[in-house]
Amino acid sequence: MATSSTPSSDEPAEDEAEPESALETARRQLQHAADHLDIDPNIVERLKHPRGVHEVTVPIERDDGTVDVFTGYRAQHDSVRGPFKGGLRYHPEVTRDECVGLGMWMTWKCAVMDLPFGGAKGGIAVNPKELSDDEKEQLTRRFTEEIRDVIGPTVDIPAPDMGTDPQTMAWLMDAYSMQEGETIPGVVTGKPPIVGGSKGRDGAPGRSVAIIVREAIDYYDKDIKVTDVAIQGYGSVGSNAARLLDEWGANIVAVSDVNGGVYDTNGLDTHSIPSHHEEPEAVLGHDAPETVTNDELLELDVDVLVPAAIGNVLTADNAGEIDADLIIEGANGPTTSTASEIFAERGIPVIPDILANAGGVTVSYFEWLQDINRRAWSLERVNDELETEMLTAWKAVREEFEAREVTWRDAAYIVALSRIAEAHDTRGLWP
Ligand code: NAD
Repeated sequence: MATSSTPSSDEPAEDEAEPESALETARRQLQHAADHLDIDPNIVERLKHPRGVHEVTVPIERDDGTVDVFTGYRAQHDSVRGPFKGGLRYHPEVTRDECVGLGMWMTWKCAVMDLPFGGAKGGIAVNPKELSDDEKEQLTRRFTEEIRDVIGPTVDIPAPDMGTDPQTMAWLMDAYSMQEGETIPGVVTGKPPIVGGSKGRDGAPGRSVAIIVREAIDYYDKDIKVTDVAIQGYGSVGSNAARLLDEWGANIVAVSDVNGGVYDTNGLDTHSIPSHHEEPEAVLGHDAPETVTNDELLELDVDVLVPAAIGNVLTADNAGEIDADLIIEGANGPTTSTASEIFAERGIPVIPDILANAGGVTVSYFEWLQDINRRAWSLERVNDELETEMLTAWKAVREEFEAREVTWRDAAYIVALSRIAEAHDTRGLWP
């Protein structure tokens, strides 16, 4: 399976058969951005390492009475701009290094959005599909207890990721609150709204992708009303982005799920195609003139391509065949390093994930604000403020893109790293 998590960058590893680890990529991208900036090399060196990694064992009693012990991690990368922030994933391939690499990546994502958070990531090496709901709840509560000393609303705020969901976050919040003796919703984001979650959180990553697609279309002097868009993946990110762009007048010509996609040059009715959450893997059941494989969808002649399913789908093998004028990364890490280089050579702009899908962590920040203030925002306010934050971040990245004549990815990393480095410089080093 292609990894769904590796941030991509330039200066590729030569052999894509062995893709770099998330940590290697994150470190290389950091160095790459640093090379464009006049910053203290000691700060760069510091940022190549996490502040700390907490490794714990999590025993649970299975439904059949036996005990299983799983390994869990919380990697905290940098908190110079605020509490650590990042997801918790339940997946068999979770490792210490993956958590460190993805935690670094969260540091850049929060900084590019100018959120007052640093980066972290954690998880448990477990296949959640092999757990009953009771077992998952036990696992979450015990894991929360094991990492309780190192999380908290002003310390480190987890969120959902692969294999975890709003219910998992509600258990985490409850377990933490029970031990602390008071209800502390701000310890975690991505909760159901009834226990302090934010309206609009589920749709936020797709909404931010749509906003960035709209801005990029405008930047490249295209008219959204005559723009053909192909979107891979019809889950939270893909379906929300597709429907918004459809509402704004774009022509969504192709969408897909894991089984393949539907294609209509006249534009699909995105609202009548069930999203992954409405009815899993039902895209091919939609009546359309043509069907396409996922590989074919990526190579369609369109104005905008949005890979919004999994990582590493744009590779050395297909980058030469991509016929889109513009690529917006909806998924995390859909473009390998080599493909990034090929797109740069071919002059196809790639707007990176750390900007495009950052609506998720941005509305997580809104959720945290609402929890701390004990006051819920309306959906309209959430969406309005998300729009403002996305436009501000887009402008900051665009200015670096224009001033330095770098790729969009480099421009985003440069924005992030300059903010982090300046904060480190201003705070100074504890002797
Ligand atoms: P999801 O589970 O809601 O939907 C995933 C979609 O991709 C489904 O339609 C599924 O059928 C399809 N898919 C799965 N494997 C595929 C494959 N091999 N080829 C083509 N399609 C495939 O997931 P999501 O939440 O929409 O996340 C999609 C991507 O966006 C992931 O990379 C995720 O890390 C990233 N992301 C998600 C969020 C979020 O909060 N949901 C935030 C930022 C980034």
